[in-house]
Amino acid sequence: MKIRAAVLPATGQILEIHEFDLAEPGPQEARVRLSWSGVCHSDQNAIDGTSPTPCPGVLGHEGAGVIEAVGPGSRLAIGQHVALSWAPSCGVCEECARGLRHLCGTAWPAMGKGGLMDGTSRLSRDGETVFHNSFLSTFAEACVVPDASCVVIPDDAPLDVAPIVGCAVTTGIGAVWNTARVRPGERVAVFGCGGVGLSAIMGARAACAAQVIAVDLSEQKLADAIDCGATAAVQWQGSAEETGEAVMALSGSGVDYAIEATGRPEVATACFLSTRARGAAVLISIPHPDAQVTFPALSFPRMERRVLGSEYGSCYPFYDFPMILDLHRQGLLPLEKLISHRLGLGEINAAFALMKDHASRRVLLDLRQ
Ligand SMILES: [Zn+2]
Ligand SMILES: [Zn+2]
Repeated sequence: MKIRAAVLPATGQILEIHEFDLAEPGPQEARVRLSWSGVCHSDQNAIDGTSPTPCPGVLGHEGAGVIEAVGPGSRLAIGQHVALSWAPSCGVCEECARGLRHLCGTAWPAMGKGGLMDGTSRLSRDGETVFHNSFLSTFAEACVVPDASCVVIPDDAPLDVAPIVGCAVTTGIGAVWNTARVRPGERVAVFGCGGVGLSAIMGARAACAAQVIAVDLSEQKLADAIDCGATAAVQWQGSAEETGEAVMALSGSGVDYAIEATGRPEVATACFLSTRARGAAVLISIPHPDAQVTFPALSFPRMERRVLGSEYGSCYPFYDFPMILDLHRQGLLPLEKLISHRLGLGEINAAFALMKDHASRRVLLDLRQ
């Protein structure tokens, strides 16, 4: 079938809208008619080469919609509503077997090749192969994806909130709930108040953190953070040391967990310097591949400070997505506050301009016809 989609022709270029051929779903695959897609900073990383992606490639990895067709052996049924996960897992590799399905040793190497789980693409244009991004490619009217990326959600779950649950929300909330395991009364700081950071703030509030301190360069983003539940705001002070001191002073004696949601090495250092004894910096954002982070070594023994890594909120999508959507339905997570703009597919480059100008929270693309 023919679909309209936004393609990255080559690293560093702007996205172009074209018509593509989308092949039928193969074994254990399904075609999803997309309703909405989120626009994520990870897409910007793919565009500018921070996280290189095979080109030409259809980007987008935050999507939700309705199952429209299924391949042989699929467990899915036409008409089911799904939120998409960019971390499908095989269930049988060493990492999956020890419960780290978000670090699946089969899916991660396959993702970088731009195909689906079998390594081949379902996308083409004029007979030329076009690559997938993150197994999904949601900047499109429809996509063919692995069954293992399709998380069935209730028919009444909002199809505009579900896409961001599939990436930013789970990355931020999961870092707080699954990786850090924040306890009631603990103190949390969140560095970087984009979609992931604001989600971490909501997760910390829902976990009854006593303090949730937002840190950012932008006054607008700090105001967004307060609106999303932060109890205090600290503007970036120009260096890791000064910003760490400011958070230390505001929190009393430092925070239990400092969440790094910018991908910048100096901010990771600031997170570490903001923690109290036995506190932890939680690094969740994508840095440049060559980036190195420095920490003052003496405070590992002297204060028992720690550093934790977190990928995709250490989540298991089939558990976490429906749980987060249910808590949103109950009013415990105001996820709709993350959505600031709704644009058409043809306005996709405007969405990235809004992101670069720090003028948006999350931008959604309306893919319904
Ligand atoms: Zn994302
Ligand atoms: Zn696996």
